[in-house]
Order: sequence, then structure tokens, then C-alpha cells
Amino acid sequence: MTRIVKFFETTLRDGEQTPGINYFAEEKLQIAQALADMGFDTLDCGFAASGPAEVEALQLIARNVSNAEICSICRSTRDDVSKAWEAVKDAAQASIHPFLSTSPLHREVKLGKTRQEVLEMARSAVAYGRTLAEHVDFALEDTTRTEHDFILEVVDAVQREGVRFVALCDTVGFALPWEFGELVAEVRREFPGVRISAHCHDDLGLAVANALAGLINGAERVDTCFNGLGERAGNAATEDIVMAVRTRRHDLDLDVRVDTTKIIPTSRLIARLSGMQPQWTKSVVGANAFAHGGGIHQDGVLKDRRTYEIMRPEEIGLPAHEQRMYVGKLSGRAALNAQLKELGYELTPDQLARACELVKLALGKKRVLEEMDLRRCADTAINPTAAVEALASQAEVEETAG
Ligand code: MN
Repeated sequence: MTRIVKFFETTLRDGEQTPGINYFAEEKLQIAQALADMGFDTLDCGFAASGPAEVEALQLIARNVSNAEICSICRSTRDDVSKAWEAVKDAAQASIHPFLSTSPLHREVKLGKTRQEVLEMARSAVAYGRTLAEHVDFALEDTTRTEHDFILEVVDAVQREGVRFVALCDTVGFALPWEFGELVAEVRREFPGVRISAHCHDDLGLAVANALAGLINGAERVDTCFNGLGERAGNAATEDIVMAVRTRRHDLDLDVRVDTTKIIPTSRLIARLSGMQPQWTKSVVGANAFAHGGGIHQDGVLKDRRTYEIMRPEEIGLPAHEQRMYVGKLSGRAALNAQLKELGYELTPDQLARACELVKLALGKKRVLEEMDLRRCADTAINPTAAVEALASQAEVEETAG
């Protein structure tokens, strides 16, 4: 039976920890609604204990977004757990998510606590959370640098207190995919009933690979951020996990229950409100993710997109008019012809050959050609004086109007 991957979408929490991002409450609501409408299960919308602005945003979302579960994370203290619950309890579906560092480095340097003390804090945070909320998840911060016997002890303790999901966290993006997969498998072997969420960071560019390794080894859920936002190098990108699972669903025996056609609009909403554009070559949502620069590739794609595209642009909601052939130094005649057809030109083979030469000349003077530049090349190829005539008639129009 194909398993449906669950999402703990944390664009509004881990994603907002991206240095430089600061959403206002109304913006958080707008993003939360877009994510809920796509079909993500749980939206991690903030850290209530960080202050009144965060509480205001969490409450606004909790009271207005009913088609997803709304979550606040919290440290493993009674006060934090209470604040998280207060912030989300009005939601139609709510959960809270205490976390605590478990690795020796974090225990000693950051918390100044012994294993026993950390274990007790984790246990009591979940126990207290359960007196307030039905759904309490728990994250072992820095799991991947924690002694395995201690990971199992903590999972055992929180499970006895009625935790729902346990998040195994590669907080610092240190794990290799097979290690992370084996960690998930080990926890599942010891505690077959435990539900695992994979929280992976991208410091070594392995967040998505690690999260997938977690999923195929039995994790039910992934923690993700749109556009790969998040602390430092970011989290596993929502759009990558969604499309990796969807594209390879038959081989993974996994699928997603998410409206993929809203990926581009949602990515752009978040890019606009965060002020951070994904890099041009970013998988799935980058401006170039469906653009082709080499002549051989362009010729193939023009014959059949499947030659060089593994996803259909319409599947992710990329508008047809944006799927242009890039005309550059390495592109070929087929791409130029296709691009000029888009602009309304029908060139004879001789004219196209001339236009091609003009484009190459132009690219020796200008790095990137705009639509207007391509039009000039085509006009000149058809009729060398056309461009001048066009300018003259334009001047006449302006004179008459003036
Ligand atoms: Mn994180």
C-alpha cells in the first residue's frame, strides 16, 4: 500500500529563523492560509515564548485557518509549554511541539545539564503538554550528534507520556543519508509504535536526501520549509520533497496529498513576503528550473519536453507563457526560431540564419538579450531598414500626438 507522506510545514517558524526575514502577523496569516490550501497537515507557525508579536500572529492564524493543524513550538519548560498552548488552543486543529537538545555538546555547553536531567525535562514537558493538548509532539534537538542509547531512552520516556510524533533532528545538517536512514530504522525497530518526523537541515546540501532516507526507513512525516528557507543553509525544501515523492512515487511506494499546482504561486508569495528569491537554479521553483540554455537540449525539448524535463511545468503551476527558450551564446537556431514564433515572427530559413548571426553578434556586446533585442535582430534579418522605419513612424506618431 502506498504510504502518504505527512508534512510538518515549518516555513513560518524555522523558515522565519532565516536571518533577514520578519513577517508581520497579517503576512503570516496569508502564508498559513496558502499552505493550508495546498493540503499540508501541520503548520508550525511560530515560537510563542519569543514574545507578544509571535503570540499575536499565532492566535490570528489559529482563529482563522481551519483546514490545517496549527502548531507552536516551545522549549521543554512548563512556562513555555503553557504559552504555546495559549497561542494555538483556539484553532480547529491544534498541536504543541516541545523540543530539547539531547547531544552531549548541547547538554554540556548550552544547557549545563546531565543526561538524567535532560531526560526528566523531556518527559515532564510532554507529560504536562498532554494535560493541555491532545496532540503533543517532541523534538530531540541535535539528535544526529546524540549517543544512540540516549536517543532510545528519550524516545521511550516521551512515548510513555503519550507523545504523538517524535522528531529526529539533524539540526546542524551533519548526517549522511544512509546514517539518517539507519537512525530512523533503529528507533522504529526498538519502538515499532513510534511515529517519526524527519527534521533535516541543509548545511552539506543533504537535507532533502536525508529526509527521503528517513521516509523510506519508516518516518511518517517530514519537516520542511518552502524555497529551502531556514536557519543557516535552510531546511529540506517543501517543494523538493513534494516533487521528489510525486515524481518517483512508484519506486518509493510513497505519495503526497498536496495540490502541486499551487507550488509556484505559493513559492512566489513566500519569496515576495520574505524578500528572498530562490537562487535561479533552485530545484523546482528556481527561475531557470524549466529553462534550457544549450542548443542540443533546446532542440530536444522543442521536439518533446520529456527529453530534458522530468516534471511537467503545469504540474507545479508554472504558467505556459513563462516556459521560454533561452536565447544565449550556447543556444541554437531551433530555440531562436521558437522564441521568435512566440513573438509573432515567421522567418524563412535564410532570414532565420541571418537573425542567428545578428544574435551572436549582439551577444558579443550584451550579456543577456531582452525581448526587444530579439525583435531588433528579427526585424533587421527580414528587412535591414525595418528597424529604422519603425523608429521613424514612432516619431511621427509622437509628433502628431504632441
Ligand atoms: Mn530546525
